[in-house]
Amino acid sequence: MSNPLFRHMRKLGNYVCGAWMEGEAEGQVLTDACTGQPLAMASTSGIDMGAAVRHARSKGNPALRKMTFHERGRMLRALALHLTERKERYYAVSLHTGATRADGWIDIEGGIGNLFSYASLRRRLPDEPFCTDGDPHPLGRNRTFAAQHLLIPKEGVAIHINAFNFPVWGMLEKCAVNWLAGMPAIVKPATLTSYLTEAVVRDIIDSGILPEGALQLLCGSAGDLLDHAGPQDVVTFTGSAVTGQRLRAHPALINGSVPFNMEADSLNCLVLGEDVRPGSTDWDLFVKEVRREMTAKAGQKCTAIRRVMVPEPLMEEAWKAIASSLERTTIGNPRSEMVRMGPLAGQVQREEVRGQVRRLLASTSILHGSLDSAELLDADYGSGAFLCPILLGCNKPFDANEVHDVEAFGPVCTLMPYHGTEEAVELAKMGKGSLCSSIVTSDRKTASAYVLGSGTHHGRILILNEACARESTGHGSPLPLLVHGGPGRAGGGEEMGGLRGITPSRSVRCEQSPARRQASR
Ligand code: NAP
Repeated sequence: MSNPLFRHMRKLGNYVCGAWMEGEAEGQVLTDACTGQPLAMASTSGIDMGAAVRHARSKGNPALRKMTFHERGRMLRALALHLTERKERYYAVSLHTGATRADGWIDIEGGIGNLFSYASLRRRLPDEPFCTDGDPHPLGRNRTFAAQHLLIPKEGVAIHINAFNFPVWGMLEKCAVNWLAGMPAIVKPATLTSYLTEAVVRDIIDSGILPEGALQLLCGSAGDLLDHAGPQDVVTFTGSAVTGQRLRAHPALINGSVPFNMEADSLNCLVLGEDVRPGSTDWDLFVKEVRREMTAKAGQKCTAIRRVMVPEPLMEEAWKAIASSLERTTIGNPRSEMVRMGPLAGQVQREEVRGQVRRLLASTSILHGSLDSAELLDADYGSGAFLCPILLGCNKPFDANEVHDVEAFGPVCTLMPYHGTEEAVELAKMGKGSLCSSIVTSDRKTASAYVLGSGTHHGRILILNEACARESTGHGSPLPLLVHGGPGRAGGGEEMGGLRGITPSRSVRCEQSPARRQASR
C-alpha cells in the first residue's frame, strides 16, 4: 500500500468519550477506489452510543456554551491554521477515495475554508456566549414594558450523518456552524471514505484546540445512536433521499421534536439561454461548465448538473461540443498529474450508477460515453471503480419521467430541448426541488424570467455569462456565507448560510428565548 498511514491494514479509530477505541468486530473492509486494494477496516460494534451522546452533553456542551462567540471564532481560526499546515497529508489519503488533486482541493481546502469563514463571522457577533436576535419590541405605551428575542446555545449535541463524497468538507462545513453557535458534535461519516475523516479528526484531537467533548467520531455503522437523540439535540443528514426519509421518521426524533436537517440527492439543472450563439464566449462558458460539473469528483457532487436544457435548434451543436470537450478529459489514476478525472468512490457506487443509467435509458439515448469501458491512464478498468462520462439525450423531456426522477450519482448528465424560457422554467420545476440551478445568458430579461419563474424550486441560482465568469465560483460550489440546501426532493434543509446557520429558525443551532418570558422579567 502506497500511503504510510495504511502500511498495515488496521482498524479505524472511533473517538468517543475522550478516547480512541476500535470496534469489537472485524468490520467493513475499505478499499482504494483506483486499485481495489484493501486499506483499513471500520467498525463501531461495541461502542456505547448512549455514552457518546451523554459525554457530548455533559463535557463538550458546557465548555462551548460558556465561551463567547469571539472565543469560539478564534478557536475555529486556530483549528483552520492547524489543519492548513497538515493539508498535504490529507491530499495523500484523499487519493485513495479516487479524488484528483483538484477534487481533493474542494473537499480539504473547501472544508478548512469553512472554518476560516465562520471564524471571521465572530466579528459580527458580540463578545458574549449569547446574542440578541433582531431589535427590541416596545410593548407598552409608557415604554416600561418590552420584549427582546435572544439566541442562546442549546444544551445538546449536533449529530452529523454524512455522505461518502465529502469526507472532510462534509464534516467541517457542519461543525464550523455548530461550534460557533456553542454546540458539540458527533460526526458519523459514510463508512466508505471514513479513513480520510479519521485522519483529519486525529489531528484535530491531537491539537488540543477544541475542548474535550466538542468532537466525537464514529467510523462505521451508526448503531442505535439516534435512539439517544433528545429535544436539545440537532440531527443533520446528507445522503440518499431513501435513507434520509427513514431517519427523519425515527421515533426518538419525532417524540423529542428533534430538528432534522436533510440534504439529499437532487436533479440540478443548467439552462442555456436562447440568446447564446455557438462560438460566443457564453457558449464556451456553457460547454466548460457542463464538462466541469460532469467530471469534477467524477460527478459525485450533490450539486452536480444532471439535466441540461438547450434551445431545440442548438441541440446537435451542443451535444457535439460537450462530447468533444469530454473526449479531451484524461481519466485514470488520480496519482498521475495528467489525470483530470479519477474513479468513483467504489465498485458498489459504480454498479449503482450503471443501474441508474439503465433506468434513464428508458427515455434517453447515449450521445457520448459507454457503460462498459473507458480509456484509462495508469489504471485498470477491472480493479478500479472507473466509469467514463456519459452524456445522454432526451428528445421529449415533457413525456419522460425518468430524466426528472432518477439521479445517477456519477459523471452522467442528460441533454434535453426546450422552446422559450417558459418551457425551460417548467422543465426545471419537473425536478421537484434542487440544490442549485444555473442559466447561461447575457440577456437580463431572460435571466430575470428564469430566476423569478423557477426560483421557488432551487436552493440557489447562478446566472453565468461573460461579464461575471472571471469571478464566478461556478455552478456547483456551496459557499459558507450562502445557504446550501434546497426544497422538495433536495431535502428541504438549509446548511451554512453565514449567520442564518446559527439561528433557530434555520439550521436550529441555537435556542430562541420566548419573547414573553423576556418581557415578563
Ligand atoms: P446513504 O446510503 O444514504 O448514506 C448516507 C449516510 O447515512 C452514511 O453515513 C450512512 O452510513 C448513513 N446511514 C445509512 N443508514 C443509516 C441508518 N439506518 N442510521 C444511521 N445512519 C445511516 O448515502 P451514500 O451511500 O452516502 O450515497 C448514496 C446516494 O446518496 C448516492 O448515490 C446519491 O444519490 C446520494 N448522495 C447525495 C449527496 C448529497 O449531498 N445530496 C451526497 C452523497 C450522496 P454508512 O456509510 O455506514 O452506511
